[in-house]
Amino acid sequence: MSQIKVAVLGSKGRMGAQACKTISDAPDLELVAQIDLGDSLDLLISTGAQVVIDFTHPDAVMGNLEFAIKNGVSVVVGTTGFDEKKLALITQWLNAAPKVGALIAPNFGLGAVLMMQFAAKASKYFESVEIVELHHPNKVDAPSGTAARTAELITEARASVKKQAMPDATSTSLEGARGALVGDVRIHSVRLRGLVAHQEVILGDIGETLSIRHDSIDRTGFMPGVLLAVRNVLTHPGLTFGLEHFMDLN
Ligand code: NAP
Repeated sequence: MSQIKVAVLGSKGRMGAQACKTISDAPDLELVAQIDLGDSLDLLISTGAQVVIDFTHPDAVMGNLEFAIKNGVSVVVGTTGFDEKKLALITQWLNAAPKVGALIAPNFGLGAVLMMQFAAKASKYFESVEIVELHHPNKVDAPSGTAARTAELITEARASVKKQAMPDATSTSLEGARGALVGDVRIHSVRLRGLVAHQEVILGDIGETLSIRHDSIDRTGFMPGVLLAVRNVLTHPGLTFGLEHFMDLN
């Protein structure tokens, strides 16, 4: 069995170091380069990397991706901070390199991806849905990217079946009491010492509620998703946004 040659960018970081260990332990993958700030990207070429994993920084990732794609190396990206403009630029680079694949995953947690998909599916059948996301107090953004993405998916799912506005009789409230509105969905953000990353989607209708909860306990929980991405990206040329596209969710 020939191994896939994999490089890791941001190899000294928290996610990158874990990814290096995971790739080294996988019999079908070969870790050929560990690259961090100050190292040359030329290592991607000299080591013959076929796939590069990027867990660096939103300010660094676009330069890394441009270099990798233009040199024929497929990319698996966990670094956050992509918008429509950046995705359009990546698509442009990929159009000029038709064999190269790029998987950008806002969340590599398979459970988190499933939670988002299940919540979107379920929201077609319930009158109301709200999200509670809970994180450690060092998190700088609120609501979390995962919560915002879940709200967008739910909003799309509700629109597809022409759901009416959710009932809410609130006429007076303190600012923030009803959470932040993303699309149709209210998100409530909790920040507490002792928490890691958690999310509960609560759906309600007459006489019943459904709660869909995901708990991220350790960054090793992202690694099965990273492996899934590395093993599939070479056979999926072009841009793939979201790990759900490499999963059988029908
Ligand atoms: P981190 O510990 O700060 O690691 C980032 C590493 O990349 C550091 O060693 C950093 O070096 C290095 N780096 C910065 N610029 C670089 C460049 N141009 N070339 C090579 N290496 C470079 O951060 P982390 O917690 O691992 O997170 C990394 C990214 O992944 C963040 O954007 C985070 O939001 C994201 N993330 C995504 C997921 C997901 O599931 N998609 C999960 C967790 C985290 P210095 O320290 O010297 O700057």
